[in-house]
This record gives sequence, structure tokens and C-alpha cells, in this order.
Amino acid sequence: MAHLSPLIRQATPVLAARGEGVYLYDEGGRAYLDFTAGIGVTSTGHCHPRVVEATRRQVATLIHGQFTTVKHKPLLTLVERLGEVLPPGLDSVFFANSGSEAVEAALRLARQATGRTNVVVFHGSFHGRTIGAASMTTSGTKFRAGFAPIMGGVTVAPFPYAYRYGWDEATAVRFALRELDYILATISAPRETAAFVIEPVLGEGGYVPAPKAFLEGLRERADAHGILLVVDEVQTGFGRTGKYWGHQHAAIRPDVIVTAKGIASGFPLSAMAASAELMSKAWPGSQGGTYGANAVACAAAIATLDVIRDENLVENSAVMGARLLEGARRIAAKHARIGDVRGLGLMVGSEFVLPDGNPDPAAAQRAQSFATERGLLLLLCGAWGQVVRMIPALVVDAKQVDEALAIWAESV
Ligand code: PLP
Repeated sequence: MAHLSPLIRQATPVLAARGEGVYLYDEGGRAYLDFTAGIGVTSTGHCHPRVVEATRRQVATLIHGQFTTVKHKPLLTLVERLGEVLPPGLDSVFFANSGSEAVEAALRLARQATGRTNVVVFHGSFHGRTIGAASMTTSGTKFRAGFAPIMGGVTVAPFPYAYRYGWDEATAVRFALRELDYILATISAPRETAAFVIEPVLGEGGYVPAPKAFLEGLRERADAHGILLVVDEVQTGFGRTGKYWGHQHAAIRPDVIVTAKGIASGFPLSAMAASAELMSKAWPGSQGGTYGANAVACAAAIATLDVIRDENLVENSAVMGARLLEGARRIAAKHARIGDVRGLGLMVGSEFVLPDGNPDPAAAQRAQSFATERGLLLLLCGAWGQVVRMIPALVVDAKQVDEALAIWAESV
């Protein structure tokens, strides 16, 4: 008899039978308020009727048309629709199935386009589990332990995680940019550095928004040295942070956007977008994949984009995110063991600390388990799992946010 590999670590004991909106239901019909959304994937809520209808229709028409062999209508329509929401100039789009693959695609593109080998990533980064993406991942040790050294040419620069440095944000940004200049002068010379790869909000690394001044500092340095700025919007894209793209909280235009998760409401799809000029510097056929831009996943993505637009989900994410952040901060104010609450849009994290200020993953895990028992599903993040994160579907309403906060207050 086969069994589920223990490599799959269960965050909760819940056996999900059905999903609707922001709720999951177990076999016995018990409802759980799902503030995990499949790790930020089911952006329109579980089984949004328009996504269900679009994919049902597509399944009956064409399930798969391999995109290096034939084009199909959902693919072409999706490209057109993405053109309406991507930043100007990033109008050339490549598709894969997962965030990791899209990160790998960007890594290849950056190396091909610049002829340079190195990339600079930032402390606390998570870019995926495939070998290239894992070598660009620095959050905690579990993603690399036992495998490193994986790939040379990856230099890790400081991320301005002001709370952990014990500094104000401006000081943390000054420090991180100065260190980056040092790295470019001594460790990863610009002539060898293809790209900076950055998450607009550290995801697995603990829900730490990249300060605006930091992203702008990266852009300046990228321009000065001919280095590409790749933003990993796998978790922050499609309205998650209260703007369409997480990097839009700063005045920058990236060279490459990598995205996945919220793009297709749960169907496996990821994308990389860049200018046509940049894409043309890589050779055709150097990227591909059997399942990329699957027709059903593309149909789900088109319906997802429709729902995001028609239900004003980007705005809802900003408004509900602010309510959630404020509520979580109110709760933390009564508990010395929550050292920091931070976030952007519907990405909100509460960091648990020991009395000496060090991370306290055990407390975070206990609070998460209590919440599960009370019908609220949450996730952990941060290097040691010391941050409890809330990442509900973008359709969440005020009543559901308040219900989650009430359970959270009890669980804490
Ligand atoms: N990049 C970021 C910022 C992520 O949060 C993730 C997944 O959590 C990935 C990349 C990897 O995506 P996937 O798990 O779809 O391979």
C-alpha cells in the first residue's frame, strides 16, 4: 500500500473536502476560515463560479495544446489580457507551471541577455526549490542544507529587515545599499553580475516589505552598471499587496517580472515578462516545457483577471489588508511575545520572540495550532518559522477579517 511521503510536511491536520470563497470544509462539514489561500494562490477565493465555469468550458473544448507545437486561443487571449495589467514595456511574456520554473527562466534569460554569470540575491529570499532557484534562496537553512554548494555565482546581499537589525527603516536601507556597493566593488563585479533578484515583500523570509527607497536604490545601481533588475512577484503579484504588482509601491520599473500563484486561482501557471528587446537577446528554443501555458490553466487565468477587475480586488486587498494589519497590531500590543507585526495588503505577519528578542518559532507554532482548532487556518514563515502569516483570498470581506482577528486574539 502506498502512502504520502513524509517529505510533505503537514502545516495542519485538516482534510479539505470542499472549498468556497474564503472557507474550506472538511469531510465532516466543519468550516475553516482559510487565511492561507493555498499559500496565496486562490486569489479569487476557492472555486469562484466564473473560474469554475471558464475552466469547465475549456476542459470540454481543448485541454492541452503544447505551446511550442501549436498556439491556442486561451494562450493568445491571456497574453493580450496580461498586456493590460503588466507595467508598460514589459510586453513579452513566457509561461511555465510553477514559481520555481519561472525564476529559473529569468535566471537563464538574465545570463543569456547579459553574457554575465553572477546574480545577487538578498538575505531572507525564497525563490523556489529547483536547483537554480534553491541556490538563490537564503531563508533559513532547510531549503539548502545537505545540498549546498549548489550553484556558484550567487552572492547574498543584506535585505533591510529593520526590525531584526534593531534600526529604523532609513538606517537599514542606507546600510543595505552601502553593503551592496561594497559587494559590487569587491565580490561580484558589475561586469560579471547579470541581475539583482528581489521579492517586493520577503515571503518565506518573514513578510518583510522591501522599503521603497531600497527598491529605488537597486534600480539606480542596476542602471549604473547594466545589471538587470528581476522582481520575483510570485507571491506579491495580482493585487496581493494592494497594488497590482508589489514593486509598484516604489517608483521603479523592473526589467523582468516573474509571477505565478495568484495568476490562475489554483491552476498551475507561472509567467515571466520582459521587454521584447530583452527577450530577443535569448535564443528561441532555449526555454520551454511540456505543460507551460496549459489551455485550462490559461482559461482559469483569464477568468481570474476578469474577477480581479470586475470585483475591484486590488482595492479590496488594500482596504482589507489595512484592516487586518491594524487588527493584528492591536492584538500584538497586548502581547510582549509578538515583537513585530508588518505587511503590505493582504500579506500580514506577526513575529514571535523570546523575552531576549530572539525568534520564538515554538510560540508561533502553538498559536497557529490553537487557531486551527478554533477554525482559522494560518501559515508560518520566517527563517525559523517564527512568523505567523495571514494571506487570505483577495475576496475576503470586513466581517471575515474581523472573525479571523477574533480567533487570532484568542489563539495568541
Ligand atoms: N518565489 C517566491 C517569492 C515564492 O513565494 C515561491 C513559493 O512560495 C516561489 C518563488 C516558488 O514557487 P513554486 O512553489 O510555485 O515553485
